[in-house]
Amino acid sequence: MNAGGGERVRPVIGMEIHVQLRTRTKMFCACPVEVGAEPNTRTCPVCLALPGSLPVMNRQALEFAILVGLALNCRIARRTKWDRKSYYYPDLPKNYQISQYDLPLNSDGWFELPTAAGPKRIGIIRAHLEEDAGKNVHDLPGGTGVDLNRAGTPLLEIVTKPDISSAEEAYSFAVELQRLMVYLGVSEGVMQKGQMRFEPNVNLHIEHDGRLYRTPIAEIKNLNSFRALRSAIEYELERQLAEWRRDHDYTLEKVGKINCGWRDDVGQTEIQRAKEEAHDYRYFPEPDLVPVVTDESWLEEIRSRLPELPAARRQRLMSQYGMKAQEAEQIVADRATADLFDAAIAAGADPGILTKHFISFWAQYANEKETTVAGLGVSGSAMAELVRLQQEGRVTATASATIAAKMVADPQRRPADIARAEGLEQMQDTSAVEALVEQAIAENPQAVADYLKGGKKSGKALGFLQGVVMRASRGSAPPQLVRQLLEQKLKG
Ligand code: ZN
Ligand code: MN
Repeated sequence: MNAGGGERVRPVIGMEIHVQLRTRTKMFCACPVEVGAEPNTRTCPVCLALPGSLPVMNRQALEFAILVGLALNCRIARRTKWDRKSYYYPDLPKNYQISQYDLPLNSDGWFELPTAAGPKRIGIIRAHLEEDAGKNVHDLPGGTGVDLNRAGTPLLEIVTKPDISSAEEAYSFAVELQRLMVYLGVSEGVMQKGQMRFEPNVNLHIEHDGRLYRTPIAEIKNLNSFRALRSAIEYELERQLAEWRRDHDYTLEKVGKINCGWRDDVGQTEIQRAKEEAHDYRYFPEPDLVPVVTDESWLEEIRSRLPELPAARRQRLMSQYGMKAQEAEQIVADRATADLFDAAIAAGADPGILTKHFISFWAQYANEKETTVAGLGVSGSAMAELVRLQQEGRVTATASATIAAKMVADPQRRPADIARAEGLEQMQDTSAVEALVEQAIAENPQAVADYLKGGKKSGKALGFLQGVVMRASRGSAPPQLVRQLLEQKLKG
């Protein structure tokens, strides 16, 4: 951070993340998990907390949570239990949340975050299961209402060590973690739907005049976009530094921990209340649920479902196909897209040409349609066929892009048929290419003059003329041949 004034300032950031698991039903009852249903129609006596109703654990949620624990290199508890976390809020009908207190399912893990300076380990303190609350719906004609459709939705709460050292790092950690959840298939991870919510806790360690000052730890509640996460941390760090600089009295010892909200409209954090400690929640064991015992064979079975994770996949694409880091990153970003790449390779595509296709036009078309490459609906075998056409010299790279656009428009059409039907096959007839070259020279005297003058402008002029010929041939003239003929005729 920009400090000055003889201070050494170090941001210290930890993160709490709530991940909504994509189970069919809720954590402790059979109600469906569904966003956007008519309020209070996805409820039953259990999630409405009617007297005498009893919770039953969702086994799928537990297996999803274990899968995450394994991917985060956690210790998986052989015996874990449920606890009641008591607090009062209108959207919490039981007046307690079923969570896990002293025996979390997953603990002591780490996540390897790729950074510019190489991989960095972010410690994972715990990842436990709990249920979500309902929602207060404000600004209704009659006042505020409560919708309990979300009450009882399975949540995984992941808590990191304060190993993150900048807003930017927090941002990339959040992006990577979301990607991991989607790869594992345990969450849709859609931030706008609140399926992942981030709560960073941030403060500063400031060395000044031989003393170490620590500013109050601020927990910023419920951030649900990556951008908000980064901005909120940036703002809060600046705010704390300014506050501390006034009289060096703004410290953790004097102020304690604080809770903040983030006002996205004004770009500021807002202090809400003194933070509660664990003893305020009166945790005690949930008497209505038996402890969960995970045995070795069950764990092994779940471990066998672990897919290749993003970091390993990136590494493999680089070492196996000689991709650049940025190319591998782009392909791995979306799991379905990375699967499609592998499918095209399996269908015989040359990795080098396929990578170029993915990074250039497939990515561009996906962008234009606001989807992923996989979302374009073109099959891996069709992509491989296009690569083969280019590799065999039947179409040029330029024509490949044109053919690909037509494949996007109609994913059922095969590239070879498109090439033939649209006259995009590479011109094999040298005299036809020659005619186009002569025409380009005749119609562009200025470029010809520039070329003949030599020097800096010469190369540019040649490139320009080549472009004219390529366009005239609709990308089907062999670029090498065009260049060769141009040079021959211009010099001759
Ligand atoms: Zn229910
Ligand atoms: Mn929680």
